[in-house]
Amino acid sequence: MANTFDVIVMGTGGMGSATAYHLARRHQRVLALDRFGPPHDRGSSHGRSRVIRQAYFEHPAYVPLVLRAYELWRELEQNAGKPLLRLTGGLMIGRPESAVVSGSLLSARQYNLEHELLDSDEIARRYRQFRVPAGFVALYEKMLGILNPEATITAHIEGAVAAGAHCRFDEPVASWQATGDHVVVRTTKNEYRAAHLVITVGPWVPALLAQLGLPLKVERVAMFWFAPTGSIEPFLPARFPVHLWQLDDGVIFYGMPALEGPADGVKVAFHNIKSACSPDTVDRQVDKQEVEQMRAYLRHYVPELAGECIQTATCMYTMTPDEHFIVGPHPHHPQVVIAAGFSGHGYKFASVLGEAIADLVTDGETAHPIGFLSPSRFSTERGG
Ligand SMILES: Cc1cc2nc3c(=O)[nH]c(=O)nc-3n(C[C@H](O)[C@H](O)[C@H](O)COP(=O)(O)OP(=O)(O)OC[C@H]3O[C@@H](n4cnc5c(N)ncnc54)[C@H](O)[C@@H]3O)c2cc1C
Repeated sequence: MANTFDVIVMGTGGMGSATAYHLARRHQRVLALDRFGPPHDRGSSHGRSRVIRQAYFEHPAYVPLVLRAYELWRELEQNAGKPLLRLTGGLMIGRPESAVVSGSLLSARQYNLEHELLDSDEIARRYRQFRVPAGFVALYEKMLGILNPEATITAHIEGAVAAGAHCRFDEPVASWQATGDHVVVRTTKNEYRAAHLVITVGPWVPALLAQLGLPLKVERVAMFWFAPTGSIEPFLPARFPVHLWQLDDGVIFYGMPALEGPADGVKVAFHNIKSACSPDTVDRQVDKQEVEQMRAYLRHYVPELAGECIQTATCMYTMTPDEHFIVGPHPHHPQVVIAAGFSGHGYKFASVLGEAIADLVTDGETAHPIGFLSPSRFSTERGG
């Protein structure tokens, strides 16, 4: 039947596009649906750069996943015939006991990952762009790199379509129902039926899965592109690494090298200055006060970057209380897989989680170590 599929993937942002890709390449009959036309700038997967790193300060349990993610991003590059992952190297900067430094070091040591530990003098010697407070150190990781979210979503979608997936864009899912061994999905235009459903709707998930009572919070974050006060040269990838700072006031901010030349500026953002929002009501404008707040930090830590702010954008994080993801079968419907709550650090894993979700759909289990991400750690028994 025309409207019957093996799997429906609801939402083709970072996670859904990768999932559709892996499922279609396993000869599943896939329907991928999205509210908009991905890649777009209304969810969590835009802004032209996402950091990928191995020495994972959030928890060493992510390291095996990220190592596989690198392999899959390289395979996607091969398949797409264009570069998608650029290694730049990067610094995790803070006090030795800060979560960012000590957590990165723990992962690096546990998994024997190549890294260097630099003191503040050595950081200043290598990178005169930074003003590092005395007593700060940095873990340098050569394998740190940058993915382009828009380009990788496009590559995953094109790869999925080439393998036979059907995509319907600008067609939001209005409701879904799991009964017996199948699922019925109603959009604004059609009704579809499938053996499996994958829910990858990013910041729209709290509303969609409200009955499960998952403790998710959607938060707005701002991105800024600054022009240096002098030449762009010191900020080009050859001389400027990705850098993430954990400061004494608790603020975490990060910046990237200028990947796209002077016209675009240098991207910087706060990781933990955010405000509660919902995807339907989020304020997508960045106001002057926010720009000034960012400029004040730059003046202090990367002074030559505190020039004109030439672009801004907003994005959304979907936070869980422990800041670990939610990936696994729906607690009440084994034919439904949920992938949500990526807490501001999910993009790098889209490739490997797409593969893991495809395993869950086709085999009912996965060899990837994702047990710590199980939805059942949060769900309250409210049915639905
Ligand atoms: C500013 C910023 C910086 C970040 N930096 C990093 C980083 O450096 N490294 C990193 O690893 N991660 C980073 N992240 C996190 C990462 O980008 C996210 O975890 C990831 O993009 C989440 O992808 P997703 O597929 O869950 O959500 P999304 O990409 O938002 O996709 C959800 C999709 O579902 C669709 N949808 C919603 N409702 C429906 C419906 N009813 N029917 C059909 N479709 C629907 C939407 O249109 C959307 O396309 C960052 C996030 C932000 C915001």
